[in-house]
Amino acid sequence: MNRTQKCKANGCDQTHSKHYCKLCEDKNSNHLARNCPDAITLYHGTPFDNIKSIIDNGLRASTGGCLGQGIYFAKGQEAKEVSIGKGDGKKMAIIKCKVNVDPKYCKTAQHSAWLGIKHEFQEWCLTDYTKYRIIGFGVIDGVVNGDISLPRGEIYYNSDTLCTGKENYGKKIVSEYDFLND
Ligand SMILES: [Zn+2]
Ligand SMILES: [Zn+2]
Repeated sequence: MNRTQKCKANGCDQTHSKHYCKLCEDKNSNHLARNCPDAITLYHGTPFDNIKSIIDNGLRASTGGCLGQGIYFAKGQEAKEVSIGKGDGKKMAIIKCKVNVDPKYCKTAQHSAWLGIKHEFQEWCLTDYTKYRIIGFGVIDGVVNGDISLPRGEIYYNSDTLCTGKENYGKKIVSEYDFLND
């Protein structure tokens, strides 16, 4: 008789017997990566036009930030300011992630006031690109041409956002504040 063994990760719907968490590399994990206790919630702000590429390929590493090559993250409000500053002031995307900020994978430093951010702020530069997971999309003032699939993730749309494709997400967040403040 065939018995399907179930992993011990809460919320996992796979039929495997052991759950691998790519963030902490536990091979028999009791959690999904999105709930990894070794990871924190951080945000990546980007112009809206990058969203399709992020949906398809994940976040792209920047080649020349203050901390060198890597994927840059900040806290929610500051990531939003970065996306405003890099875009046209309206259309923006804020990607919410769980990130393992262990110094083995990630550098961090204070950044001086920049773009619309009028004070010093902490930034993180992830150098191991496997050590994050996207858990939410915040999209403001734009049309997403394509599908958004984030079965367990969060979506925040402002009222001027439209998705022309299929949407599959876990939870719709009503306010920008709630999206940016995990
Ligand atoms: Zn599992
Ligand atoms: Zn983990």
